[in-house]
Amino acid sequence: MAGWKDEVEEIIFPGKICVPYSWTVGSTLSKWYVQLRDDGEIWANRCPSCGKVYVPPKIKCIDCYKDMNDWIKLPGTGTVETYTVVHYSEPGLHPKKPPFVYGVIKMDGADTGLVHLIDGVDPDKVKVGMRVQAVMAKERDGHITDIKHFKPIA
Ligand SMILES: [Zn+2]
Repeated sequence: MAGWKDEVEEIIFPGKICVPYSWTVGSTLSKWYVQLRDDGEIWANRCPSCGKVYVPPKIKCIDCYKDMNDWIKLPGTGTVETYTVVHYSEPGLHPKKPPFVYGVIKMDGADTGLVHLIDGVDPDKVKVGMRVQAVMAKERDGHITDIKHFKPIA
C-alpha cells in the first residue's frame, strides 16, 4: 500500500461538493431567537444552582450541568470585552464590507459574552471597556442578525 506513489504518477481530479442543509437550533435557542424576532428583546437564562447567567442561553449550565429554565430579559446594553477589526472580504459570510468590527459584548445582567458586530463608530475608535447598546433590525426573521449591531452609548 505505502509507496505506490513512488511507482505510479498520482492523478488527482479537482471536485466541488455543494451540500445544502438545515438544522434545528433546539428548544433553548429557538426560544431565544423567537424573542429576538417577535419582540426585539435579548433574553438570557440563569442557572438555578450557581446563578450564572448565559447569553446566548444554554440548555445546561457549563459549570454545574443543571437544566437552565430560568429566563431573564436583558436591558440590551453591555461592555466591549474584546474585539477585532476585520480587513478582508468574505462574501456570503461577512455581513458587511471591511473594515468592520466584531466584538465580544458582556451584556449587562449576564456573565458571558455575546459575539456580534460593533458599528456606528470608526473601527479605530473601538476600545475595550466601551459601553454599547444593541440596535435591533427593523425586519427580523429569527436569526442572530435580528440584532443589527451594537453601537456606542453616547
Ligand atoms: Zn450552574
